[in-house]
Amino acid sequence: MTIACSHCGTLEELPQLASAEVAICPVCDSRLERTNGRSITAALACAIATLVLLFPANFLPLMSVSMLGMTRQSHLGSGVVILWNHHWVILAVLVAAFAVIAPFVRFGLLSTVLAMVHLGHRPRWLGRLFRWSVRLDRWAMPDVYLIGCIVGYGRLEAVLPVAIDAGGFCLIIAALLCMLSRATLDARTVWRAIYPERALPSAGVATIGCEVCELVLPATSEGSLCPRCAVRLRARKPDAFVRTLALVIAGYALLLPANIYPMSTDTQFGVRVQYRIVDGIEDLFHAHLYPLGVLIFCTSIAIPLLKLLGLTWFLVSIRHRSPHHLVLKTRLCHFIDEIGRWANVDVFTIAVFTPLLQFPGIVTAGASVGAPAFILVVVFTMVASRTFDPRLMWDAGLPLQSGQTENP
Ligand SMILES: [Zn+2]
Ligand SMILES: [Zn+2]
Repeated sequence: MTIACSHCGTLEELPQLASAEVAICPVCDSRLERTNGRSITAALACAIATLVLLFPANFLPLMSVSMLGMTRQSHLGSGVVILWNHHWVILAVLVAAFAVIAPFVRFGLLSTVLAMVHLGHRPRWLGRLFRWSVRLDRWAMPDVYLIGCIVGYGRLEAVLPVAIDAGGFCLIIAALLCMLSRATLDARTVWRAIYPERALPSAGVATIGCEVCELVLPATSEGSLCPRCAVRLRARKPDAFVRTLALVIAGYALLLPANIYPMSTDTQFGVRVQYRIVDGIEDLFHAHLYPLGVLIFCTSIAIPLLKLLGLTWFLVSIRHRSPHHLVLKTRLCHFIDEIGRWANVDVFTIAVFTPLLQFPGIVTAGASVGAPAFILVVVFTMVASRTFDPRLMWDAGLPLQSGQTENP
């Protein structure tokens, strides 16, 4: 079975792996395949269970706070509604997309694909459906939202009695199952079940690798649709350098307002208190919630900065045709792509505790101008790590290997 490594472009002959074995690319050291010993049936059970639990997690209250005989509850959607009503439109739309809509679509599509494969049906649109579910994986964030809930709970619990409600318990299980399905889904087995890899084109024929499913096809297929996942076949992602550069510049431009302007504003007995990212971290340390303080420092300061600096390094090294640290840069690129979604924790915390702190005249909470700037930094850097093509670093650094997509 031959595949084209999507990290460095090299053609690889993959052996049949036994359970719990890993295949590593000998050129860029990326993981090509990992078998986890779980069947498609187990992955299907996991996906359906997550999908089912998303309903109570969305429609039942997550947490509630009581003060002077009044009770306020937080639902997954109520933070979105309050943000929208307070005219934080970008924030409301993006939180709704990541925390509510994308999880339903992702697990709906995944359950459908795995059920069809399990039942032995292979309609032509199955690969396209699986590609969408794979692409939505990073954007469906019940697990990141759960961490936002834990931080919100920690902050509030220090000053007010907070109760976790039925929806909260369902969210905890759904988020754990979401993480489990990310860790255990054997994507290559599913791709093979949809459309098995074919024998290599005859020697000397130039080839092209699909960037999504890594199927190897003759180079003459460029521009047509991949027969397995239906993405348009390109030797490299189109305009990857320019698009990534534009998104990185936009990310840097918004990083400053995201850090110097407050993320949230509380009004306590008529007095406005504003919290920048750094104030939120300080507060957590003052409340002796050290793990949460370290967590927010990592997700809100370290990860966005690491993403922007890493992408800048990749772009500069392509520009200078650098042959150095290619394996390290490829690994970092994969890490940045994987970790980017966790930067949303602080924004989700605001969406969780805003509906809980609505006691007019006593205490109210809301987002502030830093929050939309920050979520846009997260989105721009996440999109940048998707538009970037790590194979360009190998093309630029090792031009002699550019024939690596050629079938020897
Ligand atoms: Zn590779
Ligand atoms: Zn494909």
